[in-house]
Amino acid sequence: MTVTAIGTRYVYDFDDEAPGGREQLGGKGIGLAEMTHMGLPVPGGFTVTTEACRAQLESGSFPDGLSEELDDAVHRLELKTGKRFGSSDNPLLVSVRSGAAISMPGMMDSILDLGLSDAAAEGLVRKTGNAHFVYDSYRRLIQMYGEVVDGVDGRLFEEALSAAKQVRGVTVDTDLSADELRLLVETYKQIYTESLGRGFPQDARTQLRAAVEAVFHSWQNPRARVYRQLNDIPDTIGTAVSIVQMVFGNAGERSATGVAFSRDPGTGEKVPHGEFLFDAQGEDVVAGIRAPQPLEELEASLPEAYAEFQKAMDTLEQHYRDVQDVEFTIEHGKLYILQTRSAKRTAAAALRIALEMVEEGLISREEAVLRIEPGMLDHVLHPMIDPNAAVTVAATGIPASPGAAVGAVVFDADVAAERGKNESVILVRFDTTPDDIHGLAAAEGILTAHGGMASHAAVVARGMGKPCVAGCGALRIDESAGVCTIGGVQVREGEQLTVDGSNGRVIVGAAPLVTPTTNPDLDTILAWADRFRTLGVRANADTPVDAERARGFGAEGIGLCRTEHMFFGEERLPVVQEMILAEDETARRAALDRLLPFQQADFEAIFEAMPGLPVTIRLLDPPLHEFLPAENEATTERMRERINSLREVNPMLGTRGCRLGLQWPEIYEMQVRAIGRATKAVADRTGETPKVEIMHPLVAFAEELHRLRVLTERVMEEEAPGLEYLCGTMIELPRAALRAGEIAAYADFFSFGTNDLTQTALGLSRDDAEGKFLTGYLEQGVLEHNPFETLDQEGVGELVEIGVTRGRAVKPGLEVGICGEHGGDPQSIAFCNRVGLDYVSCSPFRVPVARLAAAQAALVEKGTSYEQAGG
Ligand code: PEP
Ligand code: MG
Repeated sequence: MTVTAIGTRYVYDFDDEAPGGREQLGGKGIGLAEMTHMGLPVPGGFTVTTEACRAQLESGSFPDGLSEELDDAVHRLELKTGKRFGSSDNPLLVSVRSGAAISMPGMMDSILDLGLSDAAAEGLVRKTGNAHFVYDSYRRLIQMYGEVVDGVDGRLFEEALSAAKQVRGVTVDTDLSADELRLLVETYKQIYTESLGRGFPQDARTQLRAAVEAVFHSWQNPRARVYRQLNDIPDTIGTAVSIVQMVFGNAGERSATGVAFSRDPGTGEKVPHGEFLFDAQGEDVVAGIRAPQPLEELEASLPEAYAEFQKAMDTLEQHYRDVQDVEFTIEHGKLYILQTRSAKRTAAAALRIALEMVEEGLISREEAVLRIEPGMLDHVLHPMIDPNAAVTVAATGIPASPGAAVGAVVFDADVAAERGKNESVILVRFDTTPDDIHGLAAAEGILTAHGGMASHAAVVARGMGKPCVAGCGALRIDESAGVCTIGGVQVREGEQLTVDGSNGRVIVGAAPLVTPTTNPDLDTILAWADRFRTLGVRANADTPVDAERARGFGAEGIGLCRTEHMFFGEERLPVVQEMILAEDETARRAALDRLLPFQQADFEAIFEAMPGLPVTIRLLDPPLHEFLPAENEATTERMRERINSLREVNPMLGTRGCRLGLQWPEIYEMQVRAIGRATKAVADRTGETPKVEIMHPLVAFAEELHRLRVLTERVMEEEAPGLEYLCGTMIELPRAALRAGEIAAYADFFSFGTNDLTQTALGLSRDDAEGKFLTGYLEQGVLEHNPFETLDQEGVGELVEIGVTRGRAVKPGLEVGICGEHGGDPQSIAFCNRVGLDYVSCSPFRVPVARLAAAQAALVEKGTSYEQAGG
């Protein structure tokens, strides 16, 4: 190879030293190169870089020089293998396989058996004496090439194959004779010609160039786009293409192909787990065309190849220090490894594997913590069927992805995507293909009749953390009639079904579900995480029940207790309304006096649920009209009048937050009094003074907080003289962030209310944006993330940074936290860590996620990293 400048060379042999690593070679390419360097039995081949794909996508034409580089690389491969590409007596066949830097299993296209032509097929029959294998390979090539390169309708090929099997009276592809396969090849060529008006290309180099180009284009196919959107993968990175010498799992009896995991991806147990098929090619296993056999049976039939495979998996695990998902082929008893990548695993398996690898000395505790994807934790404590409920199991299948789900049966991915917007659906299919991705994403659970742990449905479901039962043999689907039978029980589309992916049970009807609250492996990982993180984690909790739940999940206090929720209780709302409708201050105070005991009791219960931990109580925030009915439901003339007088054009920016507290100070006075009395009562009762933080919302001007601080101090002095507490403010308005220095003079703490800060900094109201133009923005890529879920770090984040810096410049010890919803989002948590917040506060269920994400942020800042293998 003579071209060396980076940026002009697009092709690297597996045994080359290639610059750019995974980003250039893609996961598959880097895996093949690394395995080649490790000395594992990998077929020869080369990889076209992602840069070539980007060049093609940008310019719309095949990159300059790539054809020549492909020719050179093919020539080198010919020398290595002693075969000739396109020759008719000893043809070299290759697979052309996609592989992006970030794994996107099954989302892009690959083509096998490339290089076959009529003449090459005949030559190969002469050489191998195995016409069955040759014509089986040729018909696969015509179909894959036809579909992927030229967009021929795949159903035409499937129908021809079914017809051939029917004529012969067989159900399995391999039972077709060599002559029948030869005839099938003729039919396939006819389909190709009739669809396109030209014959199947007989020149191997023409095939190769078109195949590489088609794989580049498959980066843009709809399912790949959806997958990228679901998984936050940038659209711009493109795919690499690996060209690999074909080895044949379909070359006869001592040949096989399969996929295996070095540990069980469902449970994490340290036993290899996999499936294979004799006399088949790779796509047969994944596509679930024939029922695969468990890996153990390979040991019985081909013990030597099995032993070598075991060793290879060990080598790979040791090298990558992670569970591997390996594709292999055995040709006439000889093993080849075709791909390795870090295995997708369930959340429970991820935890167990990380823990056991620490015990085995393979990884450190820091790495174990870094390896658990925070979003996955939502699935660890996944719902299960209530163990106390009596349920009738209609059938069982393979427990392919754990958790239980209940929903309405649908048989089609489009229907699932549509109905899934408004209700829970269970997608029930014979099997799934990558084109069903949008339906899988929308479904609560998945049930298939076919396929095992490595089937498409199973792999995708585990990746998404969705319950899936696969290979349910007792399921029969009649899609056109909108009905299926499960173990003989008829279920119509729309009827309720329960699937339990933890043990494979399928139950007709809606079984009661419960959500467990602990997992010992999770507890261990989180205990390690707690040692690595520096950010505190509090919870947003308004009730004693929430507070207790938050403690259970490891919250170190309450970062936001929204008091308005206490105003809505059945006995309270009428009193609240009385207070709002009061003609004068005296009447208002009388109503508030009656509310005070309720508030006090609530606070006492919350303090007691958080002994020794800070509890941040926010005084009343929403506009008062929220406590009154709609005008046409007013029960008195006075109420109607009051509703009218409180009406605002834009209540979000109206009389709410501290503005309300300044306009009717008696409301905040009552709340502070209730806090003071509750603090004192709990201190007297338990001997431990609650750590109270009184928080004033929606402050824009320092003077607002100044006046409210005076009120707070006066009332606290009256009710709980001498007891310590903090008085602070939320930073929810851009002006507050900008003028944080002045505000800090009156604040013991800041808490960034990034929900409102996002609304006000971006000038958009959440209620008017989500589900409307914001959805369009996200679909069209105007915005990458919903700014209400993931903090807009450049905009809102800059305001946060300014607020922290200016506040602490005036008051170095100022405590600063965040209590908007972003406090539970891993990316936003990493930001909070970087800008030096003291804590994040999030919903109780997000507390474990926040603990983990905070630890990861701290570790990453310290420079600890973890790299994934393969792809
Ligand atoms: C916020 O604005 O971020 C916040 C926590 O307050 P709320 O969501 O109650 O307006
Ligand atoms: Mg707010």
